[in-house]
Amino acid sequence: MSDKYKEFRPNWENEVPVEGSYRSIFKWGAPDGFKSPNEKLYKVMKDKFNLTDDDFKEKIYLGNEKVEANKEIALKPEQIEMFRKIVGEENVKLDDYSRVDVAYGMTLYDSLRLRRGIVENIPDVVLYPRDRDDIEKIVKYCNEELIPVYVFGGGSSVTRGLEAVKGGVTLDLRPHFNKVIEFNEKNQTITVEAGMSGPKLEETLNNAVKLFGAKRAYTCGHFPQSFEGSSVGGWVVTRGAGQNSTYFGKIEDMVMQQEYVTPTGVIVSDPFPAQAVGPSIDHIMMGSEGAYGVLTHVTLKIFRLMPENQRKFSYIFKSWEDAQAAAREIMQSQFGFPSVFRLSDPEETDIALKLYSVDGTILDKMMSIKGYKKMERCLFLGFTDGETKFTKNVKKQLHKICKKHGAMYLTSYPTKHWEKGRFNDPYLREALVDYGIMIDTMECSVTWDSMPKVHAGVREFCKSRPNTVNMTHMSHVYPQGANLYFIFIAKMDTVEEYLDYQQGILDNIQKYGASMSHHHGIGKMFAPWIEDSIGKNQLEVFRALKKHFDPNNIMNPGGTMAFDLPDEEKRVRKY
Ligand SMILES: Cc1cc2nc3c(=O)[nH]c(=O)nc-3n(C[C@H](O)[C@H](O)[C@H](O)COP(=O)(O)OP(=O)(O)OC[C@H]3O[C@@H](n4cnc5c(N)ncnc54)[C@H](O)[C@@H]3O)c2cc1C
Repeated sequence: MSDKYKEFRPNWENEVPVEGSYRSIFKWGAPDGFKSPNEKLYKVMKDKFNLTDDDFKEKIYLGNEKVEANKEIALKPEQIEMFRKIVGEENVKLDDYSRVDVAYGMTLYDSLRLRRGIVENIPDVVLYPRDRDDIEKIVKYCNEELIPVYVFGGGSSVTRGLEAVKGGVTLDLRPHFNKVIEFNEKNQTITVEAGMSGPKLEETLNNAVKLFGAKRAYTCGHFPQSFEGSSVGGWVVTRGAGQNSTYFGKIEDMVMQQEYVTPTGVIVSDPFPAQAVGPSIDHIMMGSEGAYGVLTHVTLKIFRLMPENQRKFSYIFKSWEDAQAAAREIMQSQFGFPSVFRLSDPEETDIALKLYSVDGTILDKMMSIKGYKKMERCLFLGFTDGETKFTKNVKKQLHKICKKHGAMYLTSYPTKHWEKGRFNDPYLREALVDYGIMIDTMECSVTWDSMPKVHAGVREFCKSRPNTVNMTHMSHVYPQGANLYFIFIAKMDTVEEYLDYQQGILDNIQKYGASMSHHHGIGKMFAPWIEDSIGKNQLEVFRALKKHFDPNNIMNPGGTMAFDLPDEEKRVRKY
């Protein structure tokens, strides 16, 4: 985002965090990566939150202090010695920084706590397994000794998934567990260790000709916004969705085979494109968030890399109703799906047009003249992927439907702006939180017939708080419905105020009958809502599986998926 200012410019933080500090843990992405609001967004915030330049003169809770955990190590010396024997002396860490580093992810609550030096739940020891044998030995030993085991993939959890509530060990897969096991061009698959990062996987596939002597280059097709800070294993066990999922599918559509090391033993799914041999073990294990076992290897279906065929588009609709009707028709017409499909509601459109520098341009004037009114109009942008005639046809058919529903074509200009920020927008968060402005996201899954009431109901709650921005979009779309992704931005003074508001949004997602998560998973943060959302009988099935794989509850204990959540912490629907 261009950071040009004509008037007062806050001193947005752009220093590499102090080594060993809290900030070096909660800051997103590369230590020297920064993004600050441009003047337009800065003005929007001042206006919406009733703030002045004076409110942006002093930063608060920067978290530049050195990490101090003050948490005793509860494991016995002989247990630590055993870990040293298993993974080697150099792969066992007991210092405060390493322990805190793996216990917190990217939940806003994590950032708020660490900024204030609040360290609640950390492992006693961090282990860096070198291979799957190390993992097998660790899990077996921990099961015998009843030591809790947590797994750290990329650390981008937004559900308190990593928090080591019961102490024990955290396996950090980043340093060693990130290699390619097999590339199979004939079957169009790749098998990798679960700790491989998104960029490393994609770089490997893009360079398949050079690396494996392949006939062509490939792509994984999975690009979550957290791409640069997440791992293949993390994607699978949280059932993530990339921004191109409308064409490539969610991660569960791409998984062909997996191996998990559980306290009960190793379980490997079958390597077939599809089968009918009882319920799917792949689907039973995907989404288990480290509570059944450690995912070690994944075989993914891959795709041909053809960026030259991508066609970008963007449209503006007169209303959210017109936009939803067009989205549904596009997805139900069976001409193929675009890959990025992003449809913003009026409030998000208003802000997006400012951020994408459309506000005040000739395009903006044309929209106003033609009756696309501010705070009613809705921006739709995206692109197509696939074979050249396919992408051309998808764009053509989609164009006809948008026109039929009264949309105006806006060229590819807004899409190109969105693309520039798609992976670096997360850097904005800490710039805002430095001044006490909270930005957080909540997401759910809905059918077309329930979308209007879920959108209106959740939004009504969000807007019941004065001076709060609430932007919503759909970004993973299906013939039967879509996700709804709620973003709020508000000046809040305390962590409690943030938590109350965030929980209120979740209560309303639950109240209006949407699924509590489309792709972030449940973790420990959303677990209180799970039983009411999916029902006791379904949760009992998950619990029975937990008992089978992990009878001693050593895997990610302390609230994950509500497996061991006390009754009084459950959230029951309020009507
Ligand atoms: C800025 C931002 C944008 C995001 N955008 C998206 C998005 O577009 N789409 C999306 O789907 N998600 C998104 N997320 C959420 C997050 O990136 C995903 O949940 C991601 O799949 C987590 O992967 P990870 O490797 O970072 O997992 P981690 O954070 O390391 O772990 C997540 C959970 O999985 C467990 N786990 C990790 N690896 C293993 C393993 N090998 N075996 C067993 N358990 C394991 C952990 O214990 C934890 O419970 C976003 C997050 C952020 C911060």
